[in-house]
Amino acid sequence: MLIDCHTHVWDVDKHLGQEMISDFSRVWGGSIESLKATPEVHEKAMSKVDKAIVLAFKSLFLKINVPNEYVAEYVDKFPDKLIGFCCIDPNQPDATAELKKCIQDLHMKGLKISPIYQNFDPNSDRAYKLFELAQELEIPVLIHQATTFIRRAPLKYAYPSLLDDVATNFSDLKIILAHLGHPWEDEAIVLVRKHPNVWADISTLTSRPFRLYHKLMTCMEYRITDKLLFGTDFPFSTPEKTISDLLKLNKIVRRTSLPKIPVNIIKNIIYENPVKLFGKL
Ligand SMILES: [Zn+2]
Repeated sequence: MLIDCHTHVWDVDKHLGQEMISDFSRVWGGSIESLKATPEVHEKAMSKVDKAIVLAFKSLFLKINVPNEYVAEYVDKFPDKLIGFCCIDPNQPDATAELKKCIQDLHMKGLKISPIYQNFDPNSDRAYKLFELAQELEIPVLIHQATTFIRRAPLKYAYPSLLDDVATNFSDLKIILAHLGHPWEDEAIVLVRKHPNVWADISTLTSRPFRLYHKLMTCMEYRITDKLLFGTDFPFSTPEKTISDLLKLNKIVRRTSLPKIPVNIIKNIIYENPVKLFGKL
């Protein structure tokens, strides 16, 4: 079974905010056409996957708002295939009430939050209120504890090691670190090894193959590859491209004496590990 654990749906002009769009153009230089991810575009891109997690995205700080209702409405059209994760900004006054509403009324299955985009300390009271409720509701939390290209987004809240106390204090909470904490993958790796309920998705990492090769070798040495999950961060990549990039990763070490990443480990990341965590959602 193929589950894409990290995908976005949005209307670029309505939802993303000028700051994200102009910083995207400045840093990536590409056209904003490549950011297009309306439900129609998403549906087509996901035609070959069995299930996909679809994330809402909200930041009061950066004026980004892909509403939970927008995601829920799309997910409701394909309830056997799509899994909606709401996004709550801990800085919004009704944060816990909205999380409850999303899970109980909109039938969303998880929470996405992001200290660097939403400008909050993951060990603050307002964040802990959300973690506490998520643990009580028994829903997984996908956390973007990683960098971004947006200039004003505060790096001080981005480091994966900031979640060590969170994972200790909420030991039953299932936490998924987006992008393996890029570019602090080593911090993410030690968290995944230490904490039984911490996993990581590998979305977007295939765009930097040498780095990914090195980090996957580290994951093998730390024996955590069974906690790595396939994801694309669509529209930043697609399932076809990410799978093909993963399967050709060993080309990097061809004609060298460096070891290869065993193909069964790569295939488990794509086809097996996500099913263990999300197959029943
Ligand atoms: Zn993402």
